[in-house]
Amino acid sequence: MADFTVLSSSDTSVSAYLSTTDDIRRIVAEACRNKSAFSGIDPYKLREDIARLGFLPEEGIGWEKTAETIEKTIAPHMLRTWSTDYMPHLHSPALIETIAAELFIASFNSSMDSWDQGPAATELECSMIKGLLGLYGYTEDGDGVFTSGGSQSNFSAIACHLNTFLKKRYGHDAKKHGLPDFYRKLRLYTSEISHFSMEKSAHMLGLGYDAVVHLPIDDLCRIDITEAERIIIHDIESGLIPFCINATIGTTDFGSIDDIEALRAIADKAGCMLHADAAYGSGAVMSSRYGNRLGNLSLADSITVDFHKMFLMPISCSALLVKDKKSFDAFMLHADYLNREEDEEDGYINLVGKSLQTTRRFDALKVFTSFSMRGRKGFDEIISKVIGNAEYFYSLIEKDPDFITSCPPQLSSVVFALRGGDELNKKVRRQLLSEGIVIGQTVYQGKTMLKFTLLNPALDESRINELYSKLKDFTER
Ligand SMILES: *Cc1c(COP(=O)(O)O)cnc(C)c1O
Repeated sequence: MADFTVLSSSDTSVSAYLSTTDDIRRIVAEACRNKSAFSGIDPYKLREDIARLGFLPEEGIGWEKTAETIEKTIAPHMLRTWSTDYMPHLHSPALIETIAAELFIASFNSSMDSWDQGPAATELECSMIKGLLGLYGYTEDGDGVFTSGGSQSNFSAIACHLNTFLKKRYGHDAKKHGLPDFYRKLRLYTSEISHFSMEKSAHMLGLGYDAVVHLPIDDLCRIDITEAERIIIHDIESGLIPFCINATIGTTDFGSIDDIEALRAIADKAGCMLHADAAYGSGAVMSSRYGNRLGNLSLADSITVDFHKMFLMPISCSALLVKDKKSFDAFMLHADYLNREEDEEDGYINLVGKSLQTTRRFDALKVFTSFSMRGRKGFDEIISKVIGNAEYFYSLIEKDPDFITSCPPQLSSVVFALRGGDELNKKVRRQLLSEGIVIGQTVYQGKTMLKFTLLNPALDESRINELYSKLKDFTER
């Protein structure tokens, strides 16, 4: 009987809820005993094992057998994000209280589109957005919304800014009429090492990749300001129309931080909008030691904040903050079945008017839960620790002739190579993977590089020392 119940007020339902979630917690707890990041299974073997599980049996096999399948076939080959040997991507272990919050979110299954689908959820999201505006230096004129991730936050920001820019500068209502006939002249400026969501956004907005201008970087992997200004002024003189500049606050590979003050000055000169893609760097705001590296983010017209990177919350959890709440006009549309204007006049806030999504998760609860529990000081410790780890590793390799470095770390990533060429470095990454140590690989100045993305606060200097010696061993082989 238990298998047929949705979560409800009946005693059988509640007891099935408790035992079923207990089973899952036990499976995860068992998996946690394994400290390595990955089983190292061959992809073809894993594909076969998974294919054998089938799709939709005529008769279900029941909860016990399904749980057993999850435990025996799926759990062992999950990537164990909690392992300190996992460091290839901006992909973090999750704070325990935010995992518990996920269970709460799924259980109530609130939706954020209208007040009547999540009264407390709507009010809590609004309250967290207000707090976030203050945290990043915006005033009450600002607004924000939780999104599915940095890519959606970035896309939403660019969509809002294009809408605002065309309306303000040309009196053109793009929401109603689509792009203006001079759309091929519109340009979005961003670092040559910025996230590819800039290109995707330009494409989805009908501008195409051609509208994205890549600005060259300096020795610290930040936008070269002199070049940026020269390129943008030159483009204006050639008849092109800059509508937005994107400052990356923590590039995906290097964690490098574009100079927001200088880019604001250029944006003002060009009469365009400025977005801060702080998907990675936003967490550093919590650090008393390193927070000022971000610069004054409130100079930007919008900020992308990811909570599933430095903030260590389960995927997905992100927010877009805007300096001027009118920016969200791009997403406002009323439907008789959902967000009636008369309700909004009576205080029933319908958040769908700020969002690309309609049905939307109550991710704000994860942020509330961990912020409330740990406070700013708790996050300061976590985030200062991971940035400190990157500095420590960099200090080991910086003067070591076996290593080639890129730019010094600004956040928690270090991009480096072993002296010995591309093939050696590729081999090192594959060899470590087979030992359950997962590190990143990228390209810098045409060379294959290795990358440590250190988001896990459980990593300590003694393990960093071990990894450093392990790497050095390769140069002696
Ligand atoms: C990760 C990242 C993104 C994309 O964020 P998702 O949450 O993965 O969609 C965008 N910009 C930067 C700089 C990032 O590091």
